[in-house]
Amino acid sequence: MSAPTDEALLAGVPTGLHVDGAWRDAEGGRRFEVTDPATGDGLASVADASPADGLAALAAAERAQEEWARTPARARGEILRRGFEAVTARSEEFARLITMEMGKPLAESRAEVAYGAEFLRWFSEEAPRVAGRYATAPDGANRLMVQKRPVGPCLLITPWNFPIAMATRKVAPAVAAGCTVVLKPADLTPLTSLLLTQVLVDAGLPPGVLNVVTTTDPAALSGPLLSDHRLRKLSFTGSTPVGRRLMAAAAERVLKVSMELGGNAPFLVCEDADVDAAVEGAVVAKMRNGGEACVAANRILVHRSVAEEFTEKLTARLSGFVTGPGSEPATTLGPLIDERSRRKVAGLVDDAVSAGARVLTGGRVPEGPGYFYPPTVLTDVRADMAIVQQEIFGPVAPVLVFDDEHEAVRSANSSEFGLVSFVFTRDLDRALRLSERLESGMVGINTGVVSNPAAPFGGVKASGLGREGGVEGIEEYLETVYVGIRDPFATERGR
Ligand code: NAD
Repeated sequence: MSAPTDEALLAGVPTGLHVDGAWRDAEGGRRFEVTDPATGDGLASVADASPADGLAALAAAERAQEEWARTPARARGEILRRGFEAVTARSEEFARLITMEMGKPLAESRAEVAYGAEFLRWFSEEAPRVAGRYATAPDGANRLMVQKRPVGPCLLITPWNFPIAMATRKVAPAVAAGCTVVLKPADLTPLTSLLLTQVLVDAGLPPGVLNVVTTTDPAALSGPLLSDHRLRKLSFTGSTPVGRRLMAAAAERVLKVSMELGGNAPFLVCEDADVDAAVEGAVVAKMRNGGEACVAANRILVHRSVAEEFTEKLTARLSGFVTGPGSEPATTLGPLIDERSRRKVAGLVDDAVSAGARVLTGGRVPEGPGYFYPPTVLTDVRADMAIVQQEIFGPVAPVLVFDDEHEAVRSANSSEFGLVSFVFTRDLDRALRLSERLESGMVGINTGVVSNPAAPFGGVKASGLGREGGVEGIEEYLETVYVGIRDPFATERGR
């Protein structure tokens, strides 16, 4: 059977709001356009939810909550497992859709679908493993019973950069734990979440368990939800400034929150590193998702003794990237998400250059349609430059030089962010020392990729609160309830 055309694929994606098990229009029939960042052309128009639509979704989630929490964990897990199988079977469709709305090369979209589907499988397996405990108090008398209960209806807000993985990383553990949800995907890339919703509903999620609202005014929609007593949890992935605002709003009701926020990953290449392996690691850590990843290497810190060799080899590798629409097989770097992002990336590079940095490759906005920016390597970069202090979110590698391990650690830890750090060294003691000293929620040793559904993903400092994935991921959606019980032998003992 031949692959569907883009038009046929898009025609199969729902474009309404999913509330209480049905697709429907937004209040007043309002819609907005989703565009292809490689061309700027429109792809589809989707429902633009109002605050009232958001509240209707929360009402549906609240109505479904009790029964979903009572549904056996095995049954919840089996629905997720069927979801995993369906997403995997339709992985090519999902990959093409991700490339259309987000722009990354097809090969990377395929990898994201595999990664994103894996959260459905992982949490299908975790659902039946949620357990409490029964213990005897230290004095041998009372009994302590600890129960785990689903938190209740959750609002899940996701960013545009990994359209399927950011959704499954939240929906799967929430649903596995017995929570119902309102998912609000980013307005730049809502189509993947809409198709995912249809697939999960077809896999058996009952009405009201997964509600999805798309909107161009997320602040107006989330405000009333955060102050509504029926909402029990907010899980947000996105930028630190928006995360801060949402945490402040959540504080009013002491709402439980998980925050997966921005990063500014240091990538350390030590004097004893395998330089070729470090270059390959840096290529992946920098160029995966075109640099539009919270875990992207943002500051490349290289020991002076290997700096020249490393920088030359990195420049050669990055110059070899083929920039173009993600749908073309030869493309290895797609466009940035929009003109605003491109202006920000170009502005950071121009600012660094005017402060003394040197461009070894790239650094120029190309002519023509789409939001392309070339792979760029900068040297003579100083720690006080904005490009080092801010999250770049683009294919730009600033290289800084250090002279000893202490200086490298100080420099790496000087950021307000603390999501991930990367270390390349052949010295085991040094690797472990650095893994203990670096202030980040994750550390990659001799690898440029740490993301794994079986591992706890998340940051320290301004990179966030809570973890997604691993055995930790489901905990974010569970309450711990303690039941104190009188000593069952009290009467027998005559007490
Ligand atoms: P963003 O903060 O602009 O938006 C994220 C989501 O929040 C979107 O759905 C958006 O519509 C919504 N939003 C925006 N303003 C809002 C408001 N006032 N109230 C409620 N919702 C609001 O971020 P982005 O540009 O979509 O994503 C890029 C950012 O996400 C980067 O900073 C990146 O590091 C971060 N990110 C973090 C992780 C992680 O796991 N730590 C993963 C991916 C992306």
